Amino acid sequence: MPEMQLITTVAAMQNLADFWRAQQQRICLVPTMGYLHEGHLSLVRHGAARAQRMVVSIFVNPLQFGPHEDFAVYPRDLERDLALLRPLAVDAVFHPSAEEFYRPGACTTVDVGGLTEGLCGAFRPGHFRGVTTVVTKLFTAVRPHQAVFGQKDYQQCAVIRQMTRDLNLGIDIAVAPTVREADGLAMSSRNVYLSPEERRRAPAIYQSLLAAESALQRGETAVQVVLDAVRGRLESEVSPRIDYVAGVDPDTLQPVARFAGQLVVAVALRMDRARLIDNLVVRPRGSAAEPA
Ligand code: AMP
Repeated sequence: MPEMQLITTVAAMQNLADFWRAQQQRICLVPTMGYLHEGHLSLVRHGAARAQRMVVSIFVNPLQFGPHEDFAVYPRDLERDLALLRPLAVDAVFHPSAEEFYRPGACTTVDVGGLTEGLCGAFRPGHFRGVTTVVTKLFTAVRPHQAVFGQKDYQQCAVIRQMTRDLNLGIDIAVAPTVREADGLAMSSRNVYLSPEERRRAPAIYQSLLAAESALQRGETAVQVVLDAVRGRLESEVSPRIDYVAGVDPDTLQPVARFAGQLVVAVALRMDRARLIDNLVVRPRGSAAEPA
């Protein structure tokens, strides 16, 4: 397998992308903030099957963290990340410094309206502006034909799809399923913040989502009844500090009152140091999941 390249400047990344494009090679990008786990690696495998060139970006994006959030302590380990990526079909890791990526005096951001207002957007002001700005800049640096995102960040996927459509970016946005620990906890770089006691409680998040799914599939149509049950269980078994428990339309992310086919049940809560999110797309029993 050819060497995986580590690229740290926008110019070098663009040159490489132009070279590949001149050879009609399809480029796939998997954007990450590093401290990789199996969830990230599954996105790489998902994308590698559909493109000739795979780029993974590793960039802890200061713009998407609030002033009191965990930017300074976000886990970072580039050598470990590179070792995890080397056995996969990754051609380049794009890892710019913050100074390289955000030049002094930069004053352009990308804002998506509507979809960013509810759910995490309501609790993390400015977060999605940071995400859409950095993803746009990653797209213009890597010039991918396709990019892969994880369903774990459901709202982020919807926002990126909307942005890609609105700005005619011409990039195919793929969404890969959430990868979980054996006990159901969604993998996250932030899980390292959990104390052993919190880690023992956290799987109840997924359990409560599964219980919501089976209630809906058994015929409960009042979404609020189901959400109240999820909230009650989270409060007693995981943490009383709940940001939201929501049942929303998979496309518009607007609240849904009656279950009539498709619903995203999404939750966000805070533990001592970690903020955890998870979601489940509920469809009628027996229907297959939609391809990404
Ligand atoms: P992050 O490094 O947390 O910003 O995540 C980078 C990408 O990996 C995003 O598209 C996430 O949605 C995705 N991702 C994070 N955790 C998981 C997971 N457990 N399963 C699938 N994708 C994930």
